[in-house]
Amino acid sequence: MTKQCSKCKEVKSLSHFGVHKGNKDGLSCWCKHCRKTIEYNKRYANIEAYRNKVRAKHAANPRLRKSIDLKSLYGIDIEQYEQMLRNQNGVCAICKQLETAVHNKSKQTVELCVDHCHKTGKVRGLLCNHCNRAVGALKDNPILCYSAGDYLKSYFSSSLNLISSNLPNKAS
Ligand SMILES: [Zn+2]
Ligand SMILES: [Zn+2]
Repeated sequence: MTKQCSKCKEVKSLSHFGVHKGNKDGLSCWCKHCRKTIEYNKRYANIEAYRNKVRAKHAANPRLRKSIDLKSLYGIDIEQYEQMLRNQNGVCAICKQLETAVHNKSKQTVELCVDHCHKTGKVRGLLCNHCNRAVGALKDNPILCYSAGDYLKSYFSSSLNLISSNLPNKAS
């Protein structure tokens, strides 16, 4: 016994058709393969529609987008980030400067990044791009940081002046 699929027009044995009680022969008019493809496409279209909806929502509300990112990456929300920013007077916790790095695509100044301990995941503070990378390059190790400082200091006679002139706290 065979039946023609009304979708792909192929003639297939009855085992290729699923049950559909409403039909005269009790079988679906589309073969199992066609039905599967159609259901997959329908689901895929739904997922895409859902994704587009979420994208539009985030585009309309960048603060919400950022909050979701912060939560998934560092376990903090936007309110906690903004509180940290206020506590640091809006500047980097190390160089005490405003962020200057620019986003590749948007060409806008990026926000201070959340510095966290890679071992414990614990959030430490907000750093500019440079300092964040510098700390990472020194393996998050205070002893290496001090050692780097001592090394550089030995090449500057007026190292103290250098440090104080580079660490303004004008924002406070
Ligand atoms: Zn078919
Ligand atoms: Zn910095």
